[in-house]
Amino acid sequence: MARKPIDKLRNIGIIAHIDAGKTTVTERFLYYSGKSHKMGEVHDGQAVMDFRQDERERGITISDAATTLFWDDWQINLIDTPGHVDFTAEVERALRVLDGAVVVFDGVEGVEPQSETVWHQADSYNVPRLCFVNKMDRLGADFRQAVQDMRTKLGAVPAVIQIPFGSAESFGGVIDLIDQRLLVWDQESLGERFDSAPVPAEIQAEARAGRAALVESLADHVDRIAERFLEGAEISAEDLRGALREATIAGSVVPVLCGAALRNCGIQPLLEAIGLYLPSPLDIPPARGTDPRTGEPAAREPDPKAPFSALIFKVSASAATDQYYVRVYSGTLRSGDWAVNQRTGEKERLRRLLQMHAQHGTAVEEAVAGDILAVTALKNSSTGDTLCDPSHPIAYEPIHFPDTVVSVAVEARTAQERDRLMEILRRIGKEDPTLRQKVDEETGQIILSGMGELHIDVVKNRLSREFRIESAFGKPRVSYRETVLASTQGEAEFARMLGNQQHYARVLVRVEPDGRSAPGAHGQVRVSSRLPEGSIPVGLVPGLLDTLKTAAEGGGLYGYPVVGVVVTALEARLGEQAQPEIALNSAATLAFRETLRKADVCVLEPIMKLEIRTPEEHLGAVVKNLGSRRAVIRETRFLRSGVIVEGTAPLSEMFGYSTSLRSLTQGRASFNMEPLDYRPIPPALLAALVQKL
Ligand code: GDP
Ligand code: MG
Repeated sequence: MARKPIDKLRNIGIIAHIDAGKTTVTERFLYYSGKSHKMGEVHDGQAVMDFRQDERERGITISDAATTLFWDDWQINLIDTPGHVDFTAEVERALRVLDGAVVVFDGVEGVEPQSETVWHQADSYNVPRLCFVNKMDRLGADFRQAVQDMRTKLGAVPAVIQIPFGSAESFGGVIDLIDQRLLVWDQESLGERFDSAPVPAEIQAEARAGRAALVESLADHVDRIAERFLEGAEISAEDLRGALREATIAGSVVPVLCGAALRNCGIQPLLEAIGLYLPSPLDIPPARGTDPRTGEPAAREPDPKAPFSALIFKVSASAATDQYYVRVYSGTLRSGDWAVNQRTGEKERLRRLLQMHAQHGTAVEEAVAGDILAVTALKNSSTGDTLCDPSHPIAYEPIHFPDTVVSVAVEARTAQERDRLMEILRRIGKEDPTLRQKVDEETGQIILSGMGELHIDVVKNRLSREFRIESAFGKPRVSYRETVLASTQGEAEFARMLGNQQHYARVLVRVEPDGRSAPGAHGQVRVSSRLPEGSIPVGLVPGLLDTLKTAAEGGGLYGYPVVGVVVTALEARLGEQAQPEIALNSAATLAFRETLRKADVCVLEPIMKLEIRTPEEHLGAVVKNLGSRRAVIRETRFLRSGVIVEGTAPLSEMFGYSTSLRSLTQGRASFNMEPLDYRPIPPALLAALVQKL
């Protein structure tokens, strides 16, 4: 279908707690808009958007695929975001490129803890939102409570534009408060047809009160409405919609709709609300970055005539080719054009532009400001890179990814397969920047590291199923870190005959805690030079600093990467040799090691944030078990459907937790876990850890 003008474009994501119904809603979007001809259901493993085999089996959505659909006069680019906390990095990067979002809630559960996390992430990116309270057909569904939760738990200002007609088994449709109509869906056509009828007598009073409340809440944010409200004048549906659009885009209110996706109720009005209330790329502030030539702030208007710029927000490695998902912020790009990658400084040819529908793409000739699409066959680009017009450079802020906390040794079956395995892991790593790989220099093993056991598990499954390569995974191990607690200096000398020349250097360094990184932060190592002028040729200083950085990252006293420190070169002296680098850099490495040997070194372990949901009868057993894992429980919340336990625990104590939780609760509890920060390990445990080394 032909592209729509930019003011008709909506780049949105659907975000939700796992199981709230995001996939079910998306499937209906695709079905009613004519993108898919058969309704896929999550429970029979047929959902179009959940296209990876492991996703279908687990019934969860892990990767975010983009798809384009057309509704009414609008073009909606939909980015499917994952609902699982092990994969929040994916939610983060999707939020970076979204202009608006639909947040789906389970009508029985209301606002669940993880929805709070994602909600606040969306707050920090200023993403305007709509709320859809789903599953109104379920026993115990409570629309009012869900709206109340939005106020109290999310701090949102809900603008309720629909209320359910009946609930649970008696759920019969949706009351549109703006037009004062009852909407009823025809099940024969799988909800494709729906009718509008006058509001039934028994709910008229509630519907009128609902509209009045909507007017009142909009009057608080839109002056036009306030004036008419004070005059006591009637406010038309059109005025209400206009005001609602303004207030939603400004982030002051959130329209709330309801329905039951599985029963095909409420979907078309939700699609319409995306068009009516969520912003087009023209309604949001210009994209901000920096001019790499000057370091000064720079911005791009969403104008097809402006210089081209785009951000790569996702790379998807499939068995055939890698696809790079980009958000075009400005300008126009034709297939075959060249762009420069700001991070590498290299030019990339953008040969194929694809409008995406789940894993399939349709080639298009041109992409313009506001578009989200995939490009293929880039040479050296990855997630977070800016692509732009070579003569008008701009660099958007890269996407930040957390440090990994577990690692595992991976072995190929044969030597021949090893190279292929490494290449596949490299491609998966490009797609998922929270997954890293390296080769252990001592053992030659491939070491894969990631965000948790489940994360590593997903990779393992992809290797065998998607890429059809057998591999053996070792036991997952905790990634520890080291830091120093006080400023320490150390010195070393390198003196040796190499060839027939004497090489000599002496270096003094200081290693100190980095006051700029927050306590527990496992930030970068910073290096600096305080060498007295003239002590060594200036050209040697960058190499010396690089060497110190590499030494710190390579491992400290206990062999774990050193974090949260500043390393300063204080003095250096050189012999007379022709090539001073060897001696200088060797002395620097030795001086760093010598300093750590004298320093007060502390080993840090990853601490995980935990969220466990259990039926109340198993709460005691769950809490007792957590007690044996050095966990700290922060909050216990009693919900209608069970108890949520929130807290923290060291990762080293949490291996195999899913198995033990299953046996403690007969499989009725579930949990989420994600890295929180690094903290010093207790001294008693340090002794045991060091013994094992
Ligand atoms: P996601 O994890 O957010 O993608 O949620 P899914 O779309 O996979 O839905 C989770 C479960 O809830 C599935 O078993 C769906 O069939 C079910 N579900 C989704 N929408 C509704 C609804 O409106 N009513 C009821 N009763 N169940 C629903
Ligand atoms: Mg899903």
